[in-house]
Amino acid sequence: MSNPQINFLVPLYNEEEVFASLIDRLTQIMESSPLTIEAILVDDGSRDATPRLLRELALRDARFQAIYLSRNFGHQLALSAGLSYVNASEAVLIIDGDLQDPPELLTEFYEQYKLGYDVVYAVRKKRKESFLKKAAYKAFYAFLDKIAYIKIPIDSGDFSLVSRRVVDHLNQMPEESRFLRGMRSWIGYNQIGLEYERQERHSGQSKYPLGKLIKLAFNGIFNFSEYPIKVVFNLGILVLIVSIVYFGHTLFKKLVFGTTPEGFTALLFTIIMFGGVQLIALGLIGEYVLRIFFQVKGRPLFIVKERICQKVVLPPKPAANPPG
Ligand code: UDP
Ligand code: MG
Repeated sequence: MSNPQINFLVPLYNEEEVFASLIDRLTQIMESSPLTIEAILVDDGSRDATPRLLRELALRDARFQAIYLSRNFGHQLALSAGLSYVNASEAVLIIDGDLQDPPELLTEFYEQYKLGYDVVYAVRKKRKESFLKKAAYKAFYAFLDKIAYIKIPIDSGDFSLVSRRVVDHLNQMPEESRFLRGMRSWIGYNQIGLEYERQERHSGQSKYPLGKLIKLAFNGIFNFSEYPIKVVFNLGILVLIVSIVYFGHTLFKKLVFGTTPEGFTALLFTIIMFGGVQLIALGLIGEYVLRIFFQVKGRPLFIVKERICQKVVLPPKPAANPPG
């Protein structure tokens, strides 16, 4: 028995409809590839048949390891949980469970990894998704690219092959509001993007409703940018300058011409508008404060209630590219 070279890492939340096809595809790759491949499947608190199917699989086939979270923690934390159980493989291929990311790309990704890339991430060349969703993704990535203090590749998601040492670094990062694709960029080393065509979801519904998507987008923005705070500060300065100029102008008119301004409507408008601006500013600062609030609690990021792993884990081999 030897340690695997590659681990697939797949988060699953109510994916009973796609489960069989997913396992078929993964098994085919495991059998046809010259690499030794295993898989870690994380059940993110599913309420359908996924946990049962996963249990049967992990008990039947030792190449599949099952991890059960105590409730639904969300995609990013399910991935983080899985990453913490990658114990011996050289590299990990992170994919979605709905087969939107073709696992067969492993071969191409692995070639790049062998050339010395610690992160090989997939770039979505085309998306088979609704017009609105595509437009929203595009706008978000363009915005993030402008404001983030590190370069987060446009149109790349979590679908990637990451080396053992990148997994170790990710596991060492204790941040609570996780935006893995940003954390992955932050780590550095040699990273390369490969284009692919994102498929339609194989079956079932998206498990990312708008609320969860917005939360993820906010994590990208507020964890990787100081821009919102700077905007608020600059707006404050601008308003101060405008008010001083306006005050000077009014004083001049009063002293020279003896006229006092009427402008009740303008006054009302200004008060209401700046009331709104101040609330937005508070909200923006609040986003950072909230992140501090959740972080200082120091709670574990997720709770694993059960794990099915038939394999005896051998002590990890030294990393393929030892750090330093
Ligand atoms: N997922 C998860 N927990 C969640 C939501 C989603 O583990 O709370 C998994 C889901 O089962 C899938 C992957 O994350 O394997 C991506 O989700 P989905 O395909 O629904 O997102 P979309 O592609 O629609 O953005
Ligand atoms: Mg999907």
